[in-house]
Amino acid sequence: MTAPTPAAARRERILQEAVRHRLLDPEESLLAAFVDLDGVAATVADLRDAFAGAPGALHAFAAKANCLVPVLRELNALGMGCEVATGGELARALAAGFPPERIVFDSPAKTRAELERALALGVAVNADSFQELDRIARILADRPSRSRIGVRINPQIGGGSIAAMSTATSTSKFGVPLADPGNRERLVRAFGDHPWLTRVHAHTGSQGCPLDLIAAGVAEAVAFADEVNAVYGRGRVDGIDIGGGLPVNFADDTVTPGFGTYVRSLKAHAPALFGPGGYRIVTEFGRSVLAKNGFMAAYVEYTKTSGGRPIALTHAGVQVATRTVFAPDAWPLRIEAYDASGTAKRGRPVRQDVAGPACFAGDLLARDHALPLLEPGDLVAVPDTGAYYFSTPFHYNSLPEPAVYGVRVRAGGRVEFTLVRPAQDPWHVPDHPGAPVVAAEPVAVPAAG
Ligand SMILES: *Cc1c(COP(=O)(O)O)cnc(C)c1O
Repeated sequence: MTAPTPAAARRERILQEAVRHRLLDPEESLLAAFVDLDGVAATVADLRDAFAGAPGALHAFAAKANCLVPVLRELNALGMGCEVATGGELARALAAGFPPERIVFDSPAKTRAELERALALGVAVNADSFQELDRIARILADRPSRSRIGVRINPQIGGGSIAAMSTATSTSKFGVPLADPGNRERLVRAFGDHPWLTRVHAHTGSQGCPLDLIAAGVAEAVAFADEVNAVYGRGRVDGIDIGGGLPVNFADDTVTPGFGTYVRSLKAHAPALFGPGGYRIVTEFGRSVLAKNGFMAAYVEYTKTSGGRPIALTHAGVQVATRTVFAPDAWPLRIEAYDASGTAKRGRPVRQDVAGPACFAGDLLARDHALPLLEPGDLVAVPDTGAYYFSTPFHYNSLPEPAVYGVRVRAGGRVEFTLVRPAQDPWHVPDHPGAPVVAAEPVAVPAAG
């Protein structure tokens, strides 16, 4: 048996303390999630170090990766910005206290009202299409704004291994597809028409895109900005938003690739980004900031053997691991076995299924997974779930949202928990009296049935 990694040993200590304080309880609290706030601070420090050669870079955390306001507030306190993709995320970023000039609003479907709001606040906006640029122009004609405004290009350089995560394919719904006939020239002209347009944005994809592909997408954005500046003068485009998408290693506790590796790839593909008189850089990392700084843990309720295969029925399933359950090959997760005290089980690995509580057969966290044989009352921990998992629960089967706790380990080893999100009470049932919402004029409507 190999010694646990420092990260695994830390999870074990946190889990033992969570059980001791009954944040996990086999009767009352069957599932809980944890965000390691010390880990988040260390990751943000790594990110800053990697981009130290890009003075003034704004690192805007992609709120969709973990939109819990107390987590966003921590990131704000660490000096991060926030990338938002809906009105709801914008509201959360503001609630977390991000100053508008450190918020970046991306979305392919921004409404007029959302744009008016963002521009009035001074939130940076990346337009996604020619139609949106026209809409912004009409708003600004009446009301000038101090927002930084950019345009998202689709570099059309191809996808990675997960189609749903690849945003730079030739037919992607995102950005202005630069290689489509006439678009490049038309977008260059837009910079001539719109003096407020000063930034170029590219986000090539998330998990599954190799670093060289992401860096090549950024290089396309830089080449386009260079072209605009060659036409209208140096500094016409003053900033490049390189998006996020640094992939996360879900296989073990190693952080790879790191931000430093990515910056080296960027320097190789797009040296002008960092050069003297280069561009102001904006980044939008989500998964790489939070994934490895969060985990969840759930009790095993029952175990059985079916068709010869051991199965553990746990309380973590599709409600907190939606992508993994619906697309298990693209989103494999590690599972760790702990006893009821939160101590790692060290028994011989046995291949078993780890199932969730929901009522459909595919609700599995892991299939045919080797780990010490689980028994009723044990705990399973699911590492690397700080982004895109428990923070965005799925309400299937009326399964409640689990509590989320922030964790800090103080000098001397005291583990301190703070409440990030209370558990939803499944017995508190929302109901609506069914009062009429419209009193319509009579019209001819065919009878039902
Ligand atoms: C999702 C998204 C991000 C964050 O992607 P990660 O893979 O979590 O880093 C950044 N920018 C845009 C525009 C996105 O859609």
